[in-house]
Amino acid sequence: MQIPLLDLKAQYATIKDEVMTAVSDVLETQRCIGGPKVAELEKKIAAISDCKYAVGASSGTDAILNSLMSLGIGAGDEVITTPFTFFATVGCIARTGARPVFVDIDPRTYNIDAELIEAAVTEKTKAIMPVHLYGQMADMDPIIGAAQKHNLYVIEDAAQSISSTYKGRKAGSIGTCGCFSFFPSKNLGAAGDGGMIVTNDEDIYNQLSIMRNHGSRPKYYHKFIGGNFRLDPIQAAVLLVKLPHLDQWSQQRRYNAEYYNRKFADTSVQTPFISPDCVTIYNQYCIRVLRRDEVVAHLKKNDIGCEIYYPVPMHLQECFSHLGYSQGDLPEAEKAAKEVMALPIYPELTEEMKDYVIQVLLEFLG
Ligand SMILES: *Cc1c(COP(=O)(O)O)cnc(C)c1O
Repeated sequence: MQIPLLDLKAQYATIKDEVMTAVSDVLETQRCIGGPKVAELEKKIAAISDCKYAVGASSGTDAILNSLMSLGIGAGDEVITTPFTFFATVGCIARTGARPVFVDIDPRTYNIDAELIEAAVTEKTKAIMPVHLYGQMADMDPIIGAAQKHNLYVIEDAAQSISSTYKGRKAGSIGTCGCFSFFPSKNLGAAGDGGMIVTNDEDIYNQLSIMRNHGSRPKYYHKFIGGNFRLDPIQAAVLLVKLPHLDQWSQQRRYNAEYYNRKFADTSVQTPFISPDCVTIYNQYCIRVLRRDEVVAHLKKNDIGCEIYYPVPMHLQECFSHLGYSQGDLPEAEKAAKEVMALPIYPELTEEMKDYVIQVLLEFLG
């Protein structure tokens, strides 16, 4: 049996006609930049995130970059974040000229260890950027506590966690602003690149809107240097078709996770820890195993898709060597990078497929 890590064709088959019509509608109007589909999606994403405002973005990366630029973060500033994330989080901080400052992770959730943040604050710190990894939100109360005490912005990298909750509060609604990605492998995925920023602050909303159009308002008058950070209306149209399914798809992922959890109980497989404060959307189902690389090779040999998110923590990436970190500085992130692996968790997995994944994995572990 062949089981991919993610099967987008299975999902597309269920919504194909609607997607075709929605895309065709945009093409018929030839409103190919901005327009009603983008505005409608912004309104709906703000609503499901319990936020007043949303600003579309060309990708999750550009959502993060626009957030940092709109908050005026740049050279001479420091931004505290996690080393255990996708590159974009840290790449964007560095691209503004600010310095990424890493704090180690909680080994159970893989999210930033909120208790370690305050010790990393200096007079240059401007913001904290927690990442809600794999679909589960970071421990936001102590993060907000540290931010309030030191007057810092909080930018939530919620690229993997749209609609997930922490103490009943939605991802993106707790910090100064929150960033989503519509990369096709995210729970709400476009047919290409896309992203969005949500906020409850009207001034920040206005600045984000200006910065996404090269910092101009009115047109051709540039008070700021922004970028082209606009969401494509064809992507917005596809996302509007998918959005009503998001909760059910995430529910199905949680069902699949519980199925795995039951079968892995009393084995050497360490299943995901979900805090009682959180409802995860399981963008990834990441287990921890010893001899991880051999396990990955065994699964791949048996046609089971799996992936390592992420094999090299950010403080050890070659491009960030100038920051001066070395091996051993952030031991929990380094350990996780050696032991985690993601299994297929997508909504359309059948029981037979899950059983095959479990069988092949447990067979190898003995
Ligand atoms: C996917 C992702 C991003 C970037 O999103 P893109 O849409 O691919 O640019 C940023 N941060 C995290 C944690 C992500 O998983």
